Amino acid sequence: MTGAVVLSIRNLNKNYRRGPEIVHALRNVSFDLIQGEVVALVGPSGSGKTTLLNILCGWDRPDGGEIAWNDQSGDHYDWAATSIVPQRLGLVEELTIYENVELPLALAGNQETDVAQRIKSLLEALGLDHISNHHPGEASLGEQQRTALARALVGGPRLLLADEPTGHQDAESERAVFRSLRSHASRGGTCLVATHNIDAIRYCHRPLRVDDGRVTVEARAKDSDLERELSPFAPHPEQHDGDEE
Ligand code: ADP
Ligand code: MG
Repeated sequence: MTGAVVLSIRNLNKNYRRGPEIVHALRNVSFDLIQGEVVALVGPSGSGKTTLLNILCGWDRPDGGEIAWNDQSGDHYDWAATSIVPQRLGLVEELTIYENVELPLALAGNQETDVAQRIKSLLEALGLDHISNHHPGEASLGEQQRTALARALVGGPRLLLADEPTGHQDAESERAVFRSLRSHASRGGTCLVATHNIDAIRYCHRPLRVDDGRVTVEARAKDSDLERELSPFAPHPEQHDGDEE
């Protein structure tokens, strides 16, 4: 593996109380994320994926363990450099697709001159340019989900977390999503993508398998294999339940 370690997670634990029962959502989870990789967090529903992403983006606290950003520990975690595509997308209904993508830059007071071009390229890459002036309510769920991805990518985060970002995509849109993630990674970003779709591993550098709160680290795929899978003409073993027509 070539790049630098972006994030080290050690012995992360998270329990939830549900009535009289304790749910062990994360059990001693340890792994590293490397700069420039797209990692699939794969596991069945209820295995702990969302819990882990929520902790990594600062929405929830672990009960124990350590999250270290580069060689800094816990308290210095670089929240500002992290962005998320939440499962519940959180788009602003009153804003257009374009304005939703622009929002994080506008809130940060970004004055860069290439912003419009950057947003346009993202919208094109994700097949959203034709609806950029429409509101989320006028877009399909798949398009809304890709808007949330564009919003997460636009600021060039060091770490992008995506929770089931292809849950509403057809096969070709799914490849567009992973092409955008790969393109972000090729510019030095790191992506952690939670999915219950085991098939998505083929688009990622390596899988982290989650099962009942435990994470297993696996070996990295070759870049050349990924390029083949992401080509627009790649065969696809099955169609997914997308809402896109
Ligand atoms: P996944 O995203 O892989 O489907 P989650 O991280 O959402 O899994 O959930 C992991 C486990 O923790 C599940 O058993 C789930 O029911 C439980 N869980 C998640 N959030 C809560 C909560 N707020 N209170 C109680 N249990 C929870
Ligand atoms: Mg989930």
